[in-house]
Amino acid sequence: MSEYSSPTQFIDLVAQQKMIRPQLDAAIKRVLDHGQYIMGPEVKEFESQLRDFTGAKHALTCANGTDALTLVLMAWGIGSGDAVFVPSFTYVATAEAPAQLGATPFFVDVCDDNFNMDPTSFKQAIIDARQLGLKPAVVIPVDLFGQPADIDTLTEIAHAENIKVLVDGAQSFGAMSKGRRVGTMGDATTTSFFPAKPLGCYGDGGAVFTNIDEDAEVINSIRLHGKGSQKYDNVRIGLNSRLDTIQAAILIEKLKLFPQELSLRSAVAKHYSACLSSVCKVPIVSSDIQSAWAQYTIQPKNRHNLQSRLKDVGIPSVVYYPIALSEQIGYKHYPSVSSGVGKSQLLSKTVLSLPMHPYLEEADISRICSEVEKSSSK
Ligand SMILES: *Cc1c(COP(=O)(O)O)cnc(C)c1O
Repeated sequence: MSEYSSPTQFIDLVAQQKMIRPQLDAAIKRVLDHGQYIMGPEVKEFESQLRDFTGAKHALTCANGTDALTLVLMAWGIGSGDAVFVPSFTYVATAEAPAQLGATPFFVDVCDDNFNMDPTSFKQAIIDARQLGLKPAVVIPVDLFGQPADIDTLTEIAHAENIKVLVDGAQSFGAMSKGRRVGTMGDATTTSFFPAKPLGCYGDGGAVFTNIDEDAEVINSIRLHGKGSQKYDNVRIGLNSRLDTIQAAILIEKLKLFPQELSLRSAVAKHYSACLSSVCKVPIVSSDIQSAWAQYTIQPKNRHNLQSRLKDVGIPSVVYYPIALSEQIGYKHYPSVSSGVGKSQLLSKTVLSLPMHPYLEEADISRICSEVEKSSSK
């Protein structure tokens, strides 16, 4: 690469912004002109577009993806004495939401080929939770790195035990499983519009999806301070958790590009896998699943060597996640499945995420692949 070309970005938000800057400026200006900064018309418009895009009956936006999880758990009355099953290999927010409500996050192991919750480990964790005197209440499968978890198997196990399924789709907005779009699976789904997620705004944002009318009504009340039928009736304890109108206006413009960006991400992943599958362990996506490719995560033989080699040649790479959640200081006092979380621990020591965004050029991908190959042949 010539020293004059722009450096490879891990996630390139600049290229996208350049493409739609005039539309973004106009959208923001409209909000400044009408002045309805909270729950303005763009919020309703975006929620309607989210329903159309996902096929979910209800889409409720909120302040961020962590609040989205909290809103659903609150609507379901989750609290002290409840076990909420979460993967031990995920972003902290998945366990933080139940912990905040006084429930017990219960760590379950993951599969090492797709990074998602292992149904066998989940089954064991239900037995373990009962033995500890906890009520198995909710499971939160995470669609890690953009790939939907094995939702049918997990839901079958959960529903047989009266456990609700809350899909954490913070990284998988836009992905599909067996023809269903993320947002329509489980008893509820949440997502995040944090800037670096597949569909990101220019600040914090999130959403809840559900097909259940009563849940939607309660979640709508909770995000607005527990309001009743009138604005100043307070029928329950709630939160202040709304998506800003300006962020909704930005997301409306970005959603127009999103289907195309999903195919571009998918093409980048395909290119990576074609080059790297003989070199190291690459993500396995089953044929009935389309990942949103939030990350492209490999398991190289020697992560340390590869990462420093990439750094030397100006290619960014990130370890998601360097410590299993069940080992984090803030969380290690919570229970883990009795069969152990060995896969999560191993993954935290081996995984490496490569640059991934829709505007990554072929030449960049080839260069990255050739560096990975060189590092692994040593
Ligand atoms: C980003 C993320 C969240 C939290 O979303 P925020 O909008 O940052 O609050 C929750 N779960 C997972 C798996 C995430 O990656």
